[in-house]
Parts: sequence; structure tokens; C-alpha cells
Amino acid sequence: MKEEKIKKDFFISKYDFKETYSYFLEKNKKIIIAGPCSLENEDQIIKVIDFLTKNNIKTIRIFPFKVRTSPYEFDGLKDKGIEIIKKVKDKFPEIKIVSEIYSEEHLFKLKNIVDVFQIGTRFMYHRDLISTLGKNNLPLILKRGFSSTIKEWLLSAEFYLKEGGKKIILCERGIRTFETSVRNSFDITSIISIRNYSKIPVIVDPSHIIGKRKGIDKIIIASLFAGFNGFMVEIHPQPEKALSDKFQQLNFNSFEKILNLLNHYKLL
Ligand code: PEP
Ligand code: MN
Repeated sequence: MKEEKIKKDFFISKYDFKETYSYFLEKNKKIIIAGPCSLENEDQIIKVIDFLTKNNIKTIRIFPFKVRTSPYEFDGLKDKGIEIIKKVKDKFPEIKIVSEIYSEEHLFKLKNIVDVFQIGTRFMYHRDLISTLGKNNLPLILKRGFSSTIKEWLLSAEFYLKEGGKKIILCERGIRTFETSVRNSFDITSIISIRNYSKIPVIVDPSHIIGKRKGIDKIIIASLFAGFNGFMVEIHPQPEKALSDKFQQLNFNSFEKILNLLNHYKLL
């Protein structure tokens, strides 16, 4: 498909995403989402919310369902986790909660409880689920499939828009290449390519790109300079004790340093 034809044929190219921006943007000019890789217990979440509130961040990741590569790894607290989310929501109604779902059953269970749904890299092609979210205009963060092209990614988002959904953002989380020194290869050019077609907000997930703590600051700075609309980062009160992704989650102190740096460069 030629570039011009893509522009004309995609609904995504015609929508101004105003409703999306106003839903996802808070006081900052950039979308900021932070929180642990997995929901582990209530105390962990309360600590993260206290920290985020102190830093004027209102959107947290709380994942009761964790997609894992191996069936023998911790895959979330599931229903027990949903009970924790309900309690947290009652205590902090102003906080927006993002949860990953990968089945209609997850959606059914979380529909009236969380504010934003994430569809992760392994499920970017789950068109039924994406369409259902669109039909109900439920806020969605659609991550890039680890081996998907920009066109495939935008077309997946199109399944949501086509059904009338108005609140969707994309998240670049790296792609699989021959390189093994990092968890995924960061395609910083994706924002440039996407802007040829669409105004859709695109955030970056530095944590799953690099797979370790060192370098997360640089990825965020480079991304915001390049035009990404924000970021989602993994933070944990005690990363070394985390039940998943313990090598990439930041402690509060390190994340605060990054926020200071971003303020210094006037990127927020
Ligand atoms: C996540 O955000 O926790 C996650 C699993 O990300 P991805 O789908 O990008 O691997
Ligand atoms: Mn993770």
C-alpha cells in the first residue's frame, strides 16, 4: 500500500484524538503512567499511590493478570487482586487505574472497576477484544506487537476506532531483533512514521524495552525529545523483592531523580 493510500483509507488519519488527549493528559503536557510490573499486595499499591500523589502523577498500573512467557512463573493474584483493586479505588477515587487484560473474561471482571485497559504486545492482534473495547468506548493502551510493523499496529488500533471508540493511545515497547544485549530494540523512529498518518498519542515503555534499570532515564529523555507523548514506567517500593521483572523496576528514589531531570529539561 502506498503512503498516500494509507492516509486516505485509514479512519485513524481523520480523527483528531482530542477526546483521547483530554482523557489521558492531566496537569502535565505529557502522559505519565507508573506502577509495579505486577500487583502483589495492598501495601505495595498504597505505597506506590502515596509516592505518585506526592509527585502529582495520577495514573497507576495495577495488574492482577500477568501475561508470562513461562506457565511456571507468577502470573498475578487474579480474583484476589481484583478485591484489592476495589479497595484501592474506594480509598483513592481520583487515581486512574490501568490494567492489562487478554480475554473477554478479564474485561468482564474489570469493566466497572478500572479506568484504562492495556492490551499487551502478545495480544496486539486480538481484534475481538480490541473491537469490544471500541464498541464500549473504553480507554485503551495498545502496545506494539513485538514483531509488528507500524501499519499492522495502526490497523489493530483501527479495529477500535472503527467501532466508535474514542480513547486509545499506543505504546512503543520495543521490537524483537537479532540484538540480545537489551530485552527489546527501541524503535525510536516509530513516532516519526506514525505522525505521517495520525495524531494518535503514542507513549513509550522504557522498562520493557531495555529490561534493566540502567538507561531508563536516557530512553525517556530521548523519546520525549523525539515527540512521544509520554511514558509508562515500572516502579516498585522494593524492586529487588518483586515477583516479576525485578531487574527493571525502579525504586522511588531513582524515579524521582528521573522526574527532576525531565523537569530540568522542561520535558513535562
Ligand atoms: C507489561 O506492560 O507489563 C507487559 C507485559 O508489557 P509487554 O506486553 O509490552 O511485554
Ligand atoms: Mn513487567
